[in-house]
Order: sequence, then C-alpha cells, then structure tokens
Amino acid sequence: MIPAEFDYHAPGSLDEALALLNQHGDGAKLLAGGHSLLPALKLRLSSVGHLIDLGRLNELSYIKEDQGNLCIGARTTHYEVESSALLQQKCQLLAECASHIGDVQVRNRGTIGGSLVHADPAADYPAAIVALEAEIQTVSASGKRSIKAEDFFIDMLTTALEPSEILTEVRVPSFAANTGSAYLKVPQPASGFAVVGVAAIVVLDTKGQCTKVRVGITGAASKAYRAYDTEARLTGKRPDETVLSQAAVQATNGIETSGDIFASAEYRAHLVQVYTKRALMKAAERAKGRA
Ligand SMILES: Cc1cc2nc3c(=O)[nH]c(=O)nc-3n(C[C@H](O)[C@H](O)[C@H](O)COP(=O)(O)OP(=O)(O)OC[C@H]3O[C@@H](n4cnc5c(N)ncnc54)[C@H](O)[C@@H]3O)c2cc1C
Repeated sequence: MIPAEFDYHAPGSLDEALALLNQHGDGAKLLAGGHSLLPALKLRLSSVGHLIDLGRLNELSYIKEDQGNLCIGARTTHYEVESSALLQQKCQLLAECASHIGDVQVRNRGTIGGSLVHADPAADYPAAIVALEAEIQTVSASGKRSIKAEDFFIDMLTTALEPSEILTEVRVPSFAANTGSAYLKVPQPASGFAVVGVAAIVVLDTKGQCTKVRVGITGAASKAYRAYDTEARLTGKRPDETVLSQAAVQATNGIETSGDIFASAEYRAHLVQVYTKRALMKAAERAKGRA
C-alpha cells in the first residue's frame, strides 16, 4: 500500500531536527531505519504530516566508552552493535542481543533508538536494556533528560518519551571481570520476533557465589520486565542446577503473560521459566570463564 501524503524533511544536524520537531509538534514523526515506521505508514496503521529523517545525523551514530559506561548513539544500527569489538569485550550482552534481531537486512537498517522508541513487546533489545539498567538519554527544545530503562517502557508500543523529544544515546555499564551474561530467545518462526527472550547477567565472587544477578524478559508480557524474585533468590548463592531451577520458576511472579495464536499465556510462562534457567546457566558459566 501507499502511505497517506506527508512532507519529508532531511535535517543535517540534531539542532535542525529539534527545530523541525518543535515547529511541527504532534504532526511530526522521526524516521530512523524505517523498519517499523514505514510498514505502519504503508498499512495506514499510522499517518504523519511531517516526516523528519534522521538519516543524515551521523553525530548520533557511534559506540564509545565514557567513565566506565558504554555510550551508543541512537542511530547506531543493530549490525554495528552486534559487530562492535568494544561491546563484545565490555558488554557482550548487548552485542549478543543485537545478533538475534531479525535478519541481516533488518540489522543493517534498524537502529537501537528506533527499536527502543517503537517498544514492540516482542523486540529483543528491551530485555537486555532493563537487565543492564541502562540510561536512555533524550533531548528536546527544553533541554536534556536521562530516563532509567525500567521507567522508559510504559506499555505495549508506549514509552516515557515525549513527542517533542529525540532519543540521542543509550548508556550501559561496562562489565567487571567476573561478570557473565547471555541472551537466549525463542523466535517466532514467521516474524523472527521474540516469543520469549531472556537476558541474564551474573556476577560471581571468588567463592563462586552470585553477588549480583539481573534478569530481563521480553516477549512474555505487554512490556519487558525485570524478574526481581529470580534475582533475589540467586543472590548470595552458588548457581548450581537446583538453585537455578528454583530461581527460574519465580521469573513469572506477578506477571500476566500474553497469549496469541502462536503461544498461549501458559506456554509463554513455561518458556520464560525454561529459558530463564538456561540463560542464567550460560551467564554463570561465562562468568567463571572471566573470573
Ligand atoms: C522483517 C522484520 C523482522 C524484524 N525482526 C525483529 C526481531 O527479531 N527483533 C526485534 O527486536 N526487532 C525486529 N524487527 C524490528 C527492527 O528491529 C526495527 O529496526 C526496529 O523496531 C525499529 O528501528 P528503526 O530504526 O527501523 O526505526 P523506525 O521504524 O524508523 O522508527 C520506529 C519508531 O521510533 C521513532 N524513532 C526512531 N528513532 C528515534 C529517535 N532517535 N528518537 C525518537 N524517536 C525515534 C520513530 O518516530 C518511530 O515511531 C524486525 C523488523 C522487520 C521489518
């Protein structure tokens, strides 16, 4: 299908993009990789008066280290995240998560900023972003803002971003030596999106006990969430098979899992528990390798 008519703008700088967003208000939308927005426009699920293309804003395309944090510009593609030597070395979780997104065409065009703002409940990044306790940086005409990952995702396709704001950067912590992580996913066979995706981080002390555990889950509910009960159950314990099994069954506590034609709510809950255990096991193994 052909989208409804709109005016197209291609600003050459962030300041210019902000001025256009300010000028056109609610009638404007930002375009990044276009892999979520363009299908929505073509199917007329969405319409826009002014499309502001971020494609020329190279200033939003980078991966760099700053004071113990890794900073990823909003226009960085999934492929750039997946293949970044810096991330593979210092935040393997994010690189591994990106490698699970769609296919090579999607990873070459889609951006981390676009994916987070779109907030598809079955998208991969949100699991890693909440597990990593990332900070989302934004800018608008009235200034800059930093939003904690967990406060960023409000509901299905809904985030804390204001229409006047541009997501500029994602900040994640650099891993300590004794940290292991893993992202595991059950892909929907037709779309590739996550039926369930689990991001796990395990930090071990010298005795092999967990000093910190983080688990982020996507695909299972209307937005990505942290499995706090699982994390608490493991902290201070040695991550053996029994302990991991007991912790993993807590991963759906308080969560209303979603059901659809492909996977019922009960099946999704089961997948969450099984994949939480597997992801934690893999993360713990990797942590031992990095101790
Ligand atoms: C065939 C196919 C398979 C896919 N499979 C997967 C998958 O397995 N896992 C997965 O996670 N995703 C998958 N995706 C989605 C893909 O990851 C998209 O790239 C992503 O959802 C959107 O990123 P984008 O850069 O294309 O954003 P766009 O489509 O350009 O924009 C998406 C939304 O974000 C807004 N936006 C974009 N950038 C900014 C910014 N900097 N600041 C503020 N707002 C902004 C736009 O206005 C729009 O509302 C798939 C997509 C396709 C087409």
